[in-house]
Amino acid sequence: MSAEHPRTDVVVVGAGIIGTLIARELAGRGLGVLLLDPAPGRGASIGNAGLLVPSFTRPMADPSTLWEGLRGMTGGDASLTIGSLSPTVLGWLARFAAAARPGRAGRVAARLVGPARAAAGEYAKLAAETGLDLGVAGNGWLQVTRRPAVLRRKLALTRALAKEGIDHEVLTRAELRIREPELGSDLAGAVFFPGDASLDPAAATHAALVAAKLRGVIVHRARVTSLVRRHGEITAVRTDLGEFSATTYVLATGAGRPGGRGIQPGWGWSIDVPATEPPIGAPLIGLDDHVVFNPLAGRIRITGGMRIGGTPAHRHDHAATAAIRQAAERLVPALRDLPEGTVTRAARPMTPDGLPRVVRTGRNLITASGHGTLGMTLAPATAAAVALLLGPGARAAEVPR
Ligand SMILES: Cc1cc2nc3c(=O)[nH]c(=O)nc-3n(C[C@H](O)[C@H](O)[C@H](O)COP(=O)(O)OP(=O)(O)OC[C@H]3O[C@@H](n4cnc5c(N)ncnc54)[C@H](O)[C@@H]3O)c2cc1C
Repeated sequence: MSAEHPRTDVVVVGAGIIGTLIARELAGRGLGVLLLDPAPGRGASIGNAGLLVPSFTRPMADPSTLWEGLRGMTGGDASLTIGSLSPTVLGWLARFAAAARPGRAGRVAARLVGPARAAAGEYAKLAAETGLDLGVAGNGWLQVTRRPAVLRRKLALTRALAKEGIDHEVLTRAELRIREPELGSDLAGAVFFPGDASLDPAAATHAALVAAKLRGVIVHRARVTSLVRRHGEITAVRTDLGEFSATTYVLATGAGRPGGRGIQPGWGWSIDVPATEPPIGAPLIGLDDHVVFNPLAGRIRITGGMRIGGTPAHRHDHAATAAIRQAAERLVPALRDLPEGTVTRAARPMTPDGLPRVVRTGRNLITASGHGTLGMTLAPATAAAVALLLGPGARAAEVPR
């Protein structure tokens, strides 16, 4: 136990959206929580598209993505690329390929739809708790394509999701132009998911941190360098600020260590383009290039790219953002008149099978990572799940010592 903190029940490592909402949840249940991160409230949680998408719970590991990945590696489609051929990345790819068997992706989606559905309501509660505007909007999500074959495939997958209660509407090219007049004229049609929602990810992550502090969470800017173990238990975390001890430890380090074992970074880029009146009215994805648009207050956020493994160099950043911008302008030509915007690069914590790791990984250690493309969507449910792992209605006295 640290001298500064007379009662630390739980140390949470990592203050992205996952760790911060976990810390808030546990503090709300009466626990003394210490949150450690060298850069709290940043990470992938501020560099994402900000969509809350029950309709997108099908994992990347399915047979068609394997094919897409091969096209990407051979220059056919730049949205999915491999950033390193190190043994750990090759091992991850082998597990990804093994997970991409027919039928499995549908079962994963069925497990994630329920938790994903809760997200918009939970962020609305966070806004009410903090009095902050998170930009939560329930405008649905439009998925457009130039290729009739892609539309047909999307519809087949969508019908499977309908069994999980995900509503959708099919839009013809003409209906699409009425709904979003600034879209390019070469589109074949779209599927609209009215149950999806969106927010401003940086505002949401900031609000989570504010709420955690309001509930008594103590935040230190510290990087955890190792875990101290004794007789199968964690007794402390070592950091650049010294050691911190608690009864239970939660690793929520996203694609970083030590929580991200078995997880590879899935690098993506977001471009914030200033726009007093964004050229599109509601969130949208171009299925051909996987470029996502989220109109926010005073700007439009455009995201794309999925580079598995390694760390991108400056030239990769340049090539990726140029490809994203080009694909975005093809979809929404009016973007050509708007400024370049600012770029953020971020790493999705990718598990090979697309399922987050929210598990007890030791007697007093819980890992909550690997949320991949769905971290904003699944964070509220993960926070509740971690509280359950500590024990139903966990309070300080009930945490096993
Ligand atoms: C381009 C892009 C678009 C995306 N779009 C969406 C979307 O539309 N909807 C959606 O739901 N999800 C989306 N995601 C995914 C989502 O952003 C992530 O799943 C989510 O942010 C992961 O949250 P996290 O808290 O696990 O990780 P992070 O936000 O990365 O936080 C991890 C934190 O751990 C800290 N940390 C790491 N190592 C240590 C250490 N040793 N000691 C202390 N602290 C440490 C880091 O500093 C960081 O702050 C997208 C991601 C990207 C990159």
